[in-house]
Amino acid sequence: MVLMSPAEGIPLSISGTTRLYGIMGHPVTHSLSPMMHTFAFRQHNLDCVYLPFPVLPAQLAQAVAGALALGVGGFNVTIPHKEAIVASVDEVSAAACAIGAVNTVHVRDGRTIGYNTDGAGFLQPLHALHLPLPEIGTCLLGAGGAARAVAMALLEAGCPVLVLANRTPARAERLGAVLQEHFPGAQVRVVPLAEAAGVASQSGLLVNATSVGLHNAGGALLPDTCFHPGQVVYDLVYRPLYTPLLQAARRGGATIIPGLDMLIGQGAAAFQIWTGLPFPVEAVRRLLQPFLATVS
Ligand code: NAP
Repeated sequence: MVLMSPAEGIPLSISGTTRLYGIMGHPVTHSLSPMMHTFAFRQHNLDCVYLPFPVLPAQLAQAVAGALALGVGGFNVTIPHKEAIVASVDEVSAAACAIGAVNTVHVRDGRTIGYNTDGAGFLQPLHALHLPLPEIGTCLLGAGGAARAVAMALLEAGCPVLVLANRTPARAERLGAVLQEHFPGAQVRVVPLAEAAGVASQSGLLVNATSVGLHNAGGALLPDTCFHPGQVVYDLVYRPLYTPLLQAARRGGATIIPGLDMLIGQGAAAFQIWTGLPFPVEAVRRLLQPFLATVS
């Protein structure tokens, strides 16, 4: 059966040889990954489709075994399974092991191999800007799963000074201790969230890895006076596309990076693991932007 998409004009063929990919999460209805990966498979004319798999936490191990039994080629993993899945795969990459979370699984020779592409996806737009990471300090807001992946990636890329601030200080202290142990040559500091504004205005890179700003909720994280030209402000939140933080940073003259760039970057790295092929980054951006631009 061949389905034609009027939007793209690229045939989507489903046959007896079609390979299945997907994303395990709960909930997973909001995910943009099925759209972006199915689009990328079609761009490369690959006989593959990508579907959402709603998987309850108690059924994660069964779902992984089921995927293997069904011949699934690979899958992404999202909230709330990123940490728990580490115990359910046969092998875990060094980066995923250090982060303690997996977001991409590749099924190879009947074995499940877990990777974490969040760090690579996060760095991609910074590399595109040619930001000299070993020369600039970073202020990172948040201490959850995303903050951990981002912090590891930044330190791995040579960031010399990383200041963490989180609503729950003990969580930032714990993350800071783990990071300092992994990267003894870097300077990792933890400050109260109330002091983040001062640190942020002195930092070349400010990253929001909290969920503040998601659907415009949570109020202003930092005062407008923090932002200035020459600074890069990166918000991991991608609903809406331009969060209140990014809008304030843009008003202050900073260079802004929306969370959509990381979403596409981590998807590109997963696609590369599964297929060895490049991701159609710009076409995927054009595809997804309208869906986020209208989200409040
Ligand atoms: P998480 O593990 O639940 O962590 C949430 C973080 O947000 C914690 O640091 C939490 O602080 C903080 N937070 C929540 N509400 C807050 C508030 N009202 N004021 C201040 N801090 C608050 O979530 P996560 O997986 O790290 O994800 C964080 C955000 O990044 C989410 O919005 C997610 O959508 C986004 N994300 C984007 C991408 C992408 O590809 N662009 C990838 C991953 C994640 P406490 O420790 O005090 O609770």
